[in-house]
Parts: sequence; C-alpha cells; structure tokens
Amino acid sequence: MTRDFVETNFPTLIPEAFLSRVKASRALTKQFIPTEVENDVQTQLQGLQDPIGDKKYQVTKNLIHRYTSRALFIPTNKCPVHCRYCFRRNELMDDTFDSKEFAASLTYLRAHPEINEVIFTGGDPLMLSDSKIVKLLKAFSEISSIKYIRFHTRMPITNPGRLTDSFTTMWKSFESVFSRMTFVLHTNHIDEFDQKVNQALKKWGPFLTQSVLLKDVNNSKEELLKLFEHIISIGGTPYYLHHPDKVEGAMHFYLSLEEGRKIYAALRDELPGWAIPHYVLDIPGGDGKTLAFNSESYEFSGRFINKDSSYSDYTPPQPQ
Ligand SMILES: *Cc1c(COP(=O)(O)O)cnc(C)c1O
Ligand code: SF4
Repeated sequence: MTRDFVETNFPTLIPEAFLSRVKASRALTKQFIPTEVENDVQTQLQGLQDPIGDKKYQVTKNLIHRYTSRALFIPTNKCPVHCRYCFRRNELMDDTFDSKEFAASLTYLRAHPEINEVIFTGGDPLMLSDSKIVKLLKAFSEISSIKYIRFHTRMPITNPGRLTDSFTTMWKSFESVFSRMTFVLHTNHIDEFDQKVNQALKKWGPFLTQSVLLKDVNNSKEELLKLFEHIISIGGTPYYLHHPDKVEGAMHFYLSLEEGRKIYAALRDELPGWAIPHYVLDIPGGDGKTLAFNSESYEFSGRFINKDSSYSDYTPPQPQ
C-alpha cells in the first residue's frame, strides 16, 4: 500500500512570504516543493515511518527521554512549512498538546532530576505564541533540576518576522532564570538566508545550527563550506551535520555513508576545528545518535584509522 504524501499525508505548505525565495532557488525548490517521486512504491518501501525510533522513548505524548540528562519536549506538531525530507513527516499531522499531558510531563521531569535540559522541538516550537512560551518556561523554571533550555527551530528562515522585538526581549528575560538558553537553527543551504533572516538571527543572539546532508541540495564540500562560513559570519556555530534518515517518501534525498564521509573529511581541511559540526547518524530503531565518522579514533582497541581508512602505525603506550 503506497501512501499519497503529495496530496494527502504531507501536503505542500509554504508561507506566502517565503514562496518567492523558494521558487528562486533550486536547492530550496527541492526541499519544499513536492514531486511524484514521493509516492513511488519502490522507494517508499526502503524508508521507515518512525525512522529514529522516537516512539520507543516516548514517556508522555509530548516528552521523549532517550539520553539521561536531556529530554525532548514537543509542544506542537505544526510547522510553517513542510520540508519534503522531514523525518517526522508521519507524525506532523495530528496535534496532541493539552494541559493534562503537560501536567504528566511535569510530573515525569520532577521524578527524574537527572534531566537537566529541556529541548523544545516539534514541529516548530515558534509556532506557539509568546504568551504560551512564557507559560511553559515558567512551569519548567519551577523544577530546580532543569538548568538548560534549548529550542530547535527553522522559523528564523521560514518566517523571520516571527522574531519580533517582544519575542527576543521575552527570551532574554529568561537568561537570568536558567543557566543557559540556547537555540539551534535548522538550515541546509546558503540560499535560505537573506537580509531579513540575517538580521533576525543577529537580534536573537548567538546560536548553534544543525543541517541534514541531502542529495542534490547540499551534498558537496563546496555547498557546505558556503553554508558554514555564512553561519559563522552572522554569529552562529555549526553543531550537527546529520546523515539523512531512511524516511518513507523521502528516499530521493538519501545518500551513502561513504559519500557523506568523503565530504566531511574534505570539510575538515577547510574549516577551523570550532566551526566543524559533528557528523552524526541516528541508528534506526532508536539506539540514538552516533558519530558517523571520526577519522582520529575509531576503535576502542586503540588502533588509529587514517582518513584513507588505512591503519596508522601509532601504538598507544600501555598504562603502567
Ligand atoms: C538529538 C536528541 C537529543 C539532543 O541531543 P544532543 O546531543 O544534546 O543535541 C535529545 N533527545 C533525543 C531523543 C534526540 O534525538
Ligand atoms: S521544520 Fe523540521 S519538523 Fe517541520 S517539516 Fe521541516 S524538518 Fe520537519
């Protein structure tokens, strides 16, 4: 049974103001305008509906607890856009946030003081109103074990107007409440930035970024270098480069690990260490993120692996 993503399961969604930028760029067109290839049976069969195993670690409708110290909080499944490669595309259609579920999430967080960071994701958490965000942040601030707040968002790119002065003032007011407030911008290509986007990001503050390697969008050293150098120039720090997940209906973006590793190795020659994102992969089924490539110290045995995948002669001294 194939699913119809183009018309029914994951229809086109692009804000009016963003559309002209999408149409003007090949890399954006590929990311946001659907094509019939999403409905192709053979390629759908290679993909998964829950590619990274979110469900296995879901502790309330809105909370996913996979890593000891931090939990994902999903207050909304809505986004201003539908990215065609989205790995949560099968979860985005039904919105399930209510006060009863939120109370259950708070109870869980209180019972698990090892969680020190709440990561707002979605959907896009900036779909919530400022007053809703304030309410949620205040509730988290009453749990003393929660020290860090992080937002993962694509909104500064898809709708920079959302970052109003009152929003950024509100955000900064919580910087004295939590030890650290961070946001991670999701961006894949330099064409996603224009003057308005740059200004909105500078106003909000220093930020981290996450990008997904996507076939025919950014799968070359040159494209990624342009993107990362731009991010650095406006106060951002590349944080994660994700290998694409195997997503039902989005396999046309997929590329091999070998190709990804070659691109990443080439990037390491061109960027300073502090501007190199971690290249990571989510193991299907929910085992979590793992480094997709680490040329320096691959094996626990102590053998070192060179960039060309030969072993180096270096033998670590044995501790006495
Ligand atoms: C990626 C992820 C996080 C955050 O991990 P960091 O390495 O701290 O960025 C938290 N929870 C889940 C389920 C994740 O997939
Ligand atoms: S913004 Fe994120 S969650 Fe929303 S459609 Fe795009 S990739 Fe998916």
